[in-house]
Amino acid sequence: MKNIWQEREKALENQYIFRQDREKIEQMRAETKEKLIRELCKDRCPKCGDEIEAMTFRGVPLDKCPGCGGVWLGPNDLRILASKDHRSWFDKWFKGENEAPETFE
Ligand SMILES: [Zn+2]
Repeated sequence: MKNIWQEREKALENQYIFRQDREKIEQMRAETKEKLIRELCKDRCPKCGDEIEAMTFRGVPLDKCPGCGGVWLGPNDLRILASKDHRSWFDKWFKGENEAPETFE
């Protein structure tokens, strides 16, 4: 005859292990998803998905999307650009001062 208390103890232990495994699987799934998203999005435009290209504008390295024309600046790049020309760097950018901006090869 089986000991009902031992069976109950074993069931609780199995339930605990099952929950732990489920938590680990969920954590691994979330980590894998995050890693995949980062890999797929690296150097891609967040708006249209095209591969962004490195370029320089007035000596400041930028990333530009050939698909939609979106431009990404590093944390200090906007400050550097603004300090180079207080009045019109925006105008020059939008009027195409550097029609064919130099790019990193
Ligand atoms: Zn784009």
